Amino acid sequence: MGDIKGFIKHKRVDFKKEHVKNRIKHCKEFVKIDTDKELQIQASRCMDCGIPFCQTGCPVDNIIPDWNDLVYNNKWYEAYLRLSKTNNFPEFTGRVCPAPCENSCTLAINNDAVTIKNIEVSIIEKAFEKGWVNANPPKERSDKSVAVIGSGPAGLACTDQLNQKGHNVTVFEKNEVVGGLLSVGIPDFKMEKRIVERRVKLMKDEGIEFFTNANIGDEIHPDELKEKFDAFVLCVGAEQGRDLQIEGRHLNGIHLAMDFLSLQNEAVRKGEDGSNNNINAQNKNVVVLGGGDTGSDCIGTSIRQGAASVKNFELLSKPPKERSADNPWPRWAFIERTSTSHEEGCARDYGILTKKFSGENGSVKKLHAVRVEFIKSSNPGERPHMVEIPNSEFEIETDLVLLALGFTGPKKNKLLSGFGVDLTERGNIKTDIKNMTNVTGVFAAGDSRRGQSLVVWAINEGRATAEYVHEYLKIS
Ligand SMILES: Cc1cc2nc3c(=O)[nH]c(=O)nc-3n(C[C@H](O)[C@H](O)[C@H](O)COP(=O)(O)OP(=O)(O)OC[C@H]3O[C@@H](n4cnc5c(N)ncnc54)[C@H](O)[C@@H]3O)c2cc1C
Ligand code: SF4
Repeated sequence: MGDIKGFIKHKRVDFKKEHVKNRIKHCKEFVKIDTDKELQIQASRCMDCGIPFCQTGCPVDNIIPDWNDLVYNNKWYEAYLRLSKTNNFPEFTGRVCPAPCENSCTLAINNDAVTIKNIEVSIIEKAFEKGWVNANPPKERSDKSVAVIGSGPAGLACTDQLNQKGHNVTVFEKNEVVGGLLSVGIPDFKMEKRIVERRVKLMKDEGIEFFTNANIGDEIHPDELKEKFDAFVLCVGAEQGRDLQIEGRHLNGIHLAMDFLSLQNEAVRKGEDGSNNNINAQNKNVVVLGGGDTGSDCIGTSIRQGAASVKNFELLSKPPKERSADNPWPRWAFIERTSTSHEEGCARDYGILTKKFSGENGSVKKLHAVRVEFIKSSNPGERPHMVEIPNSEFEIETDLVLLALGFTGPKKNKLLSGFGVDLTERGNIKTDIKNMTNVTGVFAAGDSRRGQSLVVWAINEGRATAEYVHEYLKIS
C-alpha cells in the first residue's frame, strides 16, 4: 500500500466524458482516460485491505490491490503483468463491466469505492500503447484439436487459454465478424470495434484459426466436425430474445432490441451513420421496454439516430438510491443506476406493464399500459407478487417500440439438436460441474450455459472451461 492516508486525502474522481451535446453527434467512445498523475492519486485511495473484498466481487478474481499499488508506484509494466494473469481481455471489461468489484470495495461501506475499473482500462491501454502486448504463441503444440463454436467473450477466453496450453484451436462463428455481442450488440459508443479487432488479430498471430460465416448446425452439420476435433466447446450465447406476446405485437415498428442494435453496429462498422437502416429511430417517438444494459444501448443508439423523443419503461419498481437494509455490502447493490445513455436525454418510468399496442395502416401508433406495484409476500423466500394499480391505465403515442426484455437462452436450433445436448429447465445448455454436457467431449461456456449474464462472467466461464477441456484431453 503506497499512501497510507490516500483514501482520506483524496476523493474518488471518475473519468471525464465528452459533453452530451457533442457526443450524441457521433458513435465513438467519449470517455477520456486520466493522466498518469491523476490515476496514481486514484490508485492511492486503495487501502490494500487484509481481506480484499473487491476481489471477492470480481468474477475473474483480479488481484486488484496489487495492481492499484503498482500503478500508485508508477510500475505500469508490472501492473500489466499482474492484470493479465487473471483477465484475458481487460480492455473489454475495463470499458463495459458494471464493476461488481467496486460494489464490494471496503471503501464503499461509507465512502466512494476505488475507481478499479478505470485503473484496469488504463493499465491495459498503457500496455498496448507501449507495445507490451504482443503475440505470444505457445512454445510447443499438443496433438489435440478443439473446436470452439461462437466467438463472444466466452469463446474467445476459452480459445485463448487452450491455445496457450498448446492445443490447436479453431473458432467457428456464424456472423461475418468475430466477437459475439461485443461486436454485434454493444454499441461503439461503449466500446469501439477496433478494440475487439486488435485483440483478435493478436490471437490469430498466436496461431488460432477463425472461420466466420460458419453456422454450425444450419450450414455445417456437427457430424462433419466430429471426426476432425478431439473436443468441442459450445459458446453460442443466449440469443433468444424475450418477446411480448400481447395484442398488437404484429404491428410494424415493434422490434426485438437486438434486431435494432445489430443493424446499427453493422452500419457503424461500414462507416455509415445508420440512417439507411431498416429499423431506424430518426424523428420517431421511441419507447424502449426494459431497463437493463440492452435497453440502455437502445436509448443511446436512438438518440444518436435523431429520435424525436425516447421513453424507457421498466416493469419493476424504481430501485432505491441507497442500498436497502436487506441488500447489505459487499453484495451487488440493487440501486438506481444511471447509464451514460440515460444521461443523454430519455424519460425513465418504472412499475409499468404494457398491455397492448394499437396502430393505423399496419404500423404501431400507441402503447397502452397500466401501472403496477409489487407486494411483498409474508412467506419468506417467496417472490413479491405484481398487482395492477386500479385506474392507472394510460396510453402514449409511439412509432417505434424496442423490446429489451432479456434473453431466454440459446436458440433451439440444429446446433443443439445436432450435438444432442440436453438443456436445463430454463432452456440453457446443461452441463456437469466441469462444464461438460451429456455428450462426452462436448463442453459449454458463457451465456449459453449460464443464461444471460455479463462479459466478465463469460470470460470467467471461458477460462474455467478451458481448464476442464485441458484435463479431459490429457486422459482422452
Ligand atoms: C445489447 C447488449 C448490451 C450488453 N451490454 C453489456 C455491458 O455493457 N456489460 C456487460 O458486462 N455485459 C453486457 N451485455 C451482456 C454480454 O454481452 C454477454 O453476457 C456476453 O457477450 C456473453 O458472452 P458469450 O460469449 O457467452 O456469448 P455471445 O457474446 O452472445 O457470443 C455468442 C456467439 O456465438 C455465435 N453463434 C451462435 N450460434 C452459432 C452457431 N450455430 N454457429 C456458429 N456461431 C454461433 C454468435 O453469433 C455469437 O457471436 C450486453 C448484452 C447485450 C445484448
Ligand atoms: S476492497 Fe477497495 S480498498 Fe480494499 S483492497 Fe480492494 S480496492 Fe483496495
